[in-house]
Amino acid sequence: MDMIIKNGTVVTASDMFKADIGIENGKIVEISGKIDESLAKHVVDAEGKLILPGAIDAHTHLAMPFGGTISSDDYYAGTRAAACGGTTTVFDFVLQDFGETMVDAVKRRDKLCAGAAAVDYSYHVAVKDVSGELLDSIEDCVKFGVPSFKVFMVYDFGVTDGVFYKVLKKAKECGALIGVHAENNEIINTLTSEFLAEGKTSAWYHYMSRPEFVEAEADTRAIQWAKAVGTKLYIVHLANKDGLAAVTKAKDEGYEIYAETCPQYLEFTCDVYKREDGRNFVCSPPMKGEESRQALWEGIKRGDIDTIATDHCPFQSYEKDWGKDDFTKIPNGCAGIENMYPYMLSAANEGKLPFTKVVEICSTNPAKIFGCKEKGSLAIGKDADIVIYDKNIDFTITNDKMHSDCDHTIWEGIKLKGYPVQTYSRGRLVYDNGKFVGEKGWGSFVKCKID
Ligand SMILES: [Zn+2]
Repeated sequence: MDMIIKNGTVVTASDMFKADIGIENGKIVEISGKIDESLAKHVVDAEGKLILPGAIDAHTHLAMPFGGTISSDDYYAGTRAAACGGTTTVFDFVLQDFGETMVDAVKRRDKLCAGAAAVDYSYHVAVKDVSGELLDSIEDCVKFGVPSFKVFMVYDFGVTDGVFYKVLKKAKECGALIGVHAENNEIINTLTSEFLAEGKTSAWYHYMSRPEFVEAEADTRAIQWAKAVGTKLYIVHLANKDGLAAVTKAKDEGYEIYAETCPQYLEFTCDVYKREDGRNFVCSPPMKGEESRQALWEGIKRGDIDTIATDHCPFQSYEKDWGKDDFTKIPNGCAGIENMYPYMLSAANEGKLPFTKVVEICSTNPAKIFGCKEKGSLAIGKDADIVIYDKNIDFTITNDKMHSDCDHTIWEGIKLKGYPVQTYSRGRLVYDNGKFVGEKGWGSFVKCKID
């Protein structure tokens, strides 16, 4: 055996128990009450610590061209930060070009990622063009090992209702999963024009042009379509309470509707847009009101929110400053890849929800939903993607302690109870007590298959 992690408390999605974990060739090969130390080349004593599966961040935008620039974390910087926050797999979004097949889109992005990523990675394809034979290329992509896709109802690369419908139908035929960024584009554009004409240009009007119903209406409509087509649907970064109510209702009716939310919607409200640095918090959908924030926590506890992901898409301060006097010029997106797991685990450590629930929504559920068989749990045969967590560390987030390339973080000053002390990616130590100790290019492409 290459390594034993002993004396820790193992956390799964359903259970917590004291056990030793044996690792060989990057896989978990034994979990039992006591493993003989003499069997291993290397022994890690995790007395008093929690042993968790690495988190899976199913929503990142690394090196993403957007808003006239490119998000500031490339595949190396973003995955380095992920490792340091206990995230051992990321799903990044590939934006299909017009005329490009889905597999070609994946291969194009994989040239940037392969050789750069510090933890394992997979992709979702954001669909733009399904004309002619491109619709069938969805099926080829499923066979290739990337079975999840996303449609945007907003932005200049958003799809029409007709394209959304075709993609849902195709997904049903070939076992793909469609994710949706749900907001009402027309209403956003109309409100935005009205505010600009009235000279209302501060970051606050980013929120005002995308109020709660703009998202709720689109969530409800997207769910209606999935129901009508009879296929499942994954709503990315759900942030509002009425949209959540629609998800709850659809689940109660027996439909396979999944919802993801992000830590920023659990921590912040729209009040951040009144701050002097409000533009740094500009992302879409924006943070919502306190009622929505509370509803999201309740949704997690009830099981109506299935996953937590980050929508990590940071931009440097000077880029955010482009929108100082015009909120429409602020590149949309914030950092979060290093903060998700520590933030959610801190909530558990403070008694807000069980540790098992955090493992479920940050690791086990995304692995299941996206068909990532080797990940998502501490179990024999799974990849040894492991986080050792110390419940007794008091940690204040500051950008200088983060490992991304971005020069600021919306999480600055947030206090956490407990923090990861080590992260292993397939048995290799990649984060150790505040330091990145992994390597560029260590991460490998994870092929997925959805059941
Ligand atoms: Zn996103």
